Amino acid sequence: MRTGADVFARAHSRIGVFSGTAFLFAGLPCLPTKLKEDTSMGYTTQMDAARRGIITRQMEEIAAYEGMEVEQLRKLVAAGQVCIPANKNHTCLKPYGIGSALKTKINVNLGTSRDCLDLDTELSKVMRAVELGAEAIMDLSSYGDTRTFRRRLTAECPAILGTVPIYDALVYYNKPLREITSREWIDVFRMHAKDGVDFMTIHCGINRSTAQRFKNSKRLMNIVSRGGSLMFSWMELTGEENPFYEHYDELLDICREYDVTLSLGDACRPGCIEDAGDISQIEELVVLGELTDRAWKRDVQVMIEGPGHMPLNQIQANMEIQNTVCKGAPFYVLGPLVTDIAPGYDHITGAIGGAIAAASGASFLCYVTPAEHLRLPTLEDVHEGIIASKIAAHAADIAKGIPGAADWDRSMAQARRELDWDRQFELAIDPEKARRYRRESNPACSDSCTMCGKMCSVRNMNKVLAGQDVDIME
Ligand code: SF4
Repeated sequence: MRTGADVFARAHSRIGVFSGTAFLFAGLPCLPTKLKEDTSMGYTTQMDAARRGIITRQMEEIAAYEGMEVEQLRKLVAAGQVCIPANKNHTCLKPYGIGSALKTKINVNLGTSRDCLDLDTELSKVMRAVELGAEAIMDLSSYGDTRTFRRRLTAECPAILGTVPIYDALVYYNKPLREITSREWIDVFRMHAKDGVDFMTIHCGINRSTAQRFKNSKRLMNIVSRGGSLMFSWMELTGEENPFYEHYDELLDICREYDVTLSLGDACRPGCIEDAGDISQIEELVVLGELTDRAWKRDVQVMIEGPGHMPLNQIQANMEIQNTVCKGAPFYVLGPLVTDIAPGYDHITGAIGGAIAAASGASFLCYVTPAEHLRLPTLEDVHEGIIASKIAAHAADIAKGIPGAADWDRSMAQARRELDWDRQFELAIDPEKARRYRRESNPACSDSCTMCGKMCSVRNMNKVLAGQDVDIME
C-alpha cells in the first residue's frame, strides 16, 4: 500500500512538468506539516493568527503555491475571504487556501456505504484522487467501522479532510434516528474534531423556522441534501430544535480548540432546476449569513455550501447573493448541475455549472461523477469526475485571471504548434488518456494524427511558412 506522502510526491512530480509558473509544485515541501509548535505561538485558529498579524507556516506555503504575497493572503484570511482548513491533529496535511482570490480547489467525496464496505478499495480511491490533484477529500462513510477509516485518513492522507458528522452519528450510535439525543450529535462533532478532520459540514441553517418555511412553500424535490433530510426528519420526529443551531456556540468552542473550519451546509439546496433559487434556499442562506458572522466573531473559519441543481442563467446571480449575504466567505458548490436529464453524464452537467460558478466567485468545487444519482462511484467514475472538476476549476481560473493559469494553455498551444506529442502528453490534464488515444489510433503520418492525416493544418502551415512544399497526395 502506498502512503499518502508517496502519492502526493508522485502527483507533484507529474504536475511539476508545467514549470516556470505559479503552478510549479517542485520545490514546495510535500512532507507532513506539523502544527504542534503553532499552538505555542499564541493563537487558536488560522483566522485568529491572521488577525493578530501572525504569519503561520501554512500561510507561507500557500502564498508560495498561489504566487501571491503572504501579507495579502494574511489579510484575506483575517477577513474570512480565504479559509485554511488545517486541524491541529491532521499532522500529515498539505495545506491549501480556499477563497475566490485563489486558484479554484476541488473536493472529492468518498467513503464506505452498506453496499460497498471495503476500506482498502475506498482508500485506493482516496490515493487516486490525491494523485489526480484533488485538494480535499470528504469522507462520507455511512457504514462499518467509520472511525478506523477516518483515523487512517488523518494519519496518511495529505489532502484536506472533510466529514459530515450527521451521517456518522447514525453509524456510531447504531440506533433509530429519533433516539439520538441533542447531546450525542454534538459529541460526534467533537469526536471528528479530535480525530483531525479539517472541515465539517453542519446543517445548522435548517432550524425550526426555516423548516416551517420549507413546509409552507412546496418544492418539487423536497430536501435532497442527505444531512439536511436527516436533520429535518430528526426535528420532525422529536419536535426539538436543530442541535447544531441551538448549540452553535459550543461547536464554535470545539472549532477554536482544534481549528476546524465550518462548512455551513445547505439543507435546502435545490435538487432539480425547478427548485433553484426558491424561498427555502434563500431563507436558509440568510441564516447561514448570520451564522457566518457569529463564527467570525470567534475567529472560526467558515465556508458556505451552495447549489445543487441550477439553470445556467441563475448561477452568477446566486453567487452574487451568497457573496453579499455571507460577506465574501468562500463558497463551496456542489455542482451546480445545469440540467436534470443526464444520469451517467452528470460529471459534464456539473463541470459546466462549476466552471460558471467558479468564474462568478465560487472557490471550491465538489466533484460530480458519472455515477451521480445512480450508484456509489467506482474507481473509474472517481477518475472521470475529478478530471471534469479540474477542467472546470482551471477554466474558471483562466476567466478570473488567476496568475499563471493561462500559461498552462499557452504551453499546450506551443506544443501543439510544434506537433510535439510527448510535450502535449506531459501537459495534458489526463496524460494517460491522451497517450492511450494516440497509441490506439496508430496514425500513418507520424507527425500529425488520424483526424486529418496529411491535411493536418498545423503540419502544413509549419511547412509552408518554413518555405517547404506541401504535398498532400504524396
Ligand atoms: S491532423 Fe488535424 S487534428 Fe490532428 S494534429 Fe493535425 S490539425 Fe490537429
